[in-house]
Amino acid sequence: MTANRSEELAERARKLFAGRIEFLKSAPGLEFLPDPVVPEIAFAGRSNVGKSSLLNALINRKAMARTSNTPGRTQELNFFEVGEPLQLRLVDMPGYGFAEAPKDLVRRWKHLVNDYLRGRTVLKRALVLVDSRHGLKEVDREMMRMLDDAAVGYHLVLTKGDKVKPSALGPLYESTATEARKHPAAHPAIFTTSSETGSGIAELRTAIYEAATS
Ligand code: GDP
Repeated sequence: MTANRSEELAERARKLFAGRIEFLKSAPGLEFLPDPVVPEIAFAGRSNVGKSSLLNALINRKAMARTSNTPGRTQELNFFEVGEPLQLRLVDMPGYGFAEAPKDLVRRWKHLVNDYLRGRTVLKRALVLVDSRHGLKEVDREMMRMLDDAAVGYHLVLTKGDKVKPSALGPLYESTATEARKHPAAHPAIFTTSSETGSGIAELRTAIYEAATS
């Protein structure tokens, strides 16, 4: 991509995310999904990875996505609409990997997420959030395999980048990239973000815009 083209994309993404953004609905089951009329980008990650904070940073809102999810409240897909006219939807998927989750809750989570990933033709890309302090965990790998199997392309996003020393970020990036290469649906571009400082947020907005519009 030429420098001009990527600058143009970045500017369009900035404008889009500075405009209309609204919470649409929570879907506790597939029968509650909104009509698939625009591209969707889905967010996945372990609970407490910083998913709500990242969503709020992306959409410039302090608390539109609910932070501090509790297990009982997380079994739903939350849809946010972006653009006037509507251009894309962001989908906050339920967090996974919370300690001591009851088995039937985990089973319900798997069904809901798997059915959504496999059946949603407008789903253009997923973002799998990984806490920079911890790196990839087995539950993240399981999520990556679900996406591989559903053939949904995804980016890994290293969250809370401000929490680790800059000297540790390089090796973390490398080891994450090495693992991503083993997954057929993982995109080679990995993002490092901080919802505290805002670093990496504009780049992620651009990638979302690009995935939704290409
Ligand atoms: P979720 O459960 O994945 O939605 O995670 P939250 O967004 O609720 O964040 C979990 C905790 O991590 C909260 O205490 C946030 O304030 C904190 N947090 C989230 N993102 C960042 C970040 O980029 N930097 C720092 N320092 N803390 C963060």
